[in-house]
Amino acid sequence: MAGKALFLDRDGVVNVDGGYVHRIEDFRLVPGILNLCRQAKEKGYLVLVATNQSGIGRGMFSEDDFERLTEYMRGVFRSSGAEIAGVFHCPSADDGHPDRKPNPGLFLKAAAAHGLDMKACVSVGDRERDIRAALAAGVGRNFLRKMFPPSPRPVWRRWRKWRQGCRPGIVAREKSLRFVPGVIPAAGRATCYRCGAKYFDIRRGAC
Ligand SMILES: [Mg+2]
Repeated sequence: MAGKALFLDRDGVVNVDGGYVHRIEDFRLVPGILNLCRQAKEKGYLVLVATNQSGIGRGMFSEDDFERLTEYMRGVFRSSGAEIAGVFHCPSADDGHPDRKPNPGLFLKAAAAHGLDMKACVSVGDRERDIRAALAAGVGRNFLRKMFPPSPRPVWRRWRKWRQGCRPGIVAREKSLRFVPGVIPAAGRATCYRCGAKYFDIRRGAC
């Protein structure tokens, strides 16, 4: 039977996006993310990370730097019972590269590597391009996390323009942390791109 996965963007979803994060000392987890991954894992989702890392292509840091930080990140998740089953990254800064989101290459590679039923998968991103990539790969449910405090780039406004009718919702209050990929915590907001739902119930597989 094909598996299902929770796809996470890295910067802005797994860790606080400080801009081209590549050093362990700059790596700060988004509150609630470990909990989210534990819950997803308990419900049979593989936790996968799909991340653009154009800082490599731009010469700002190396593949080794990325791998070192990835090892550290996976260690933290593993020791918290929230194991990350795979990390897929695109080092290119070329928007035409098939793996660079909003292109779906990373998701397709993950699907092939893990035998996924993409319709049953869920993604969480913090940029429109994360969602576009997931949609292009056929991921069934996709959530956009709003940056808080508001990003200097008006991501949310552009998003709303693009998806008229979606309403933002608080995705993470302590009480609501169960089974909600949106659980990205108190400081986060997210909404389902399709129906505007604030929450996704992993048990029911529905918003
Ligand atoms: Mg991001």
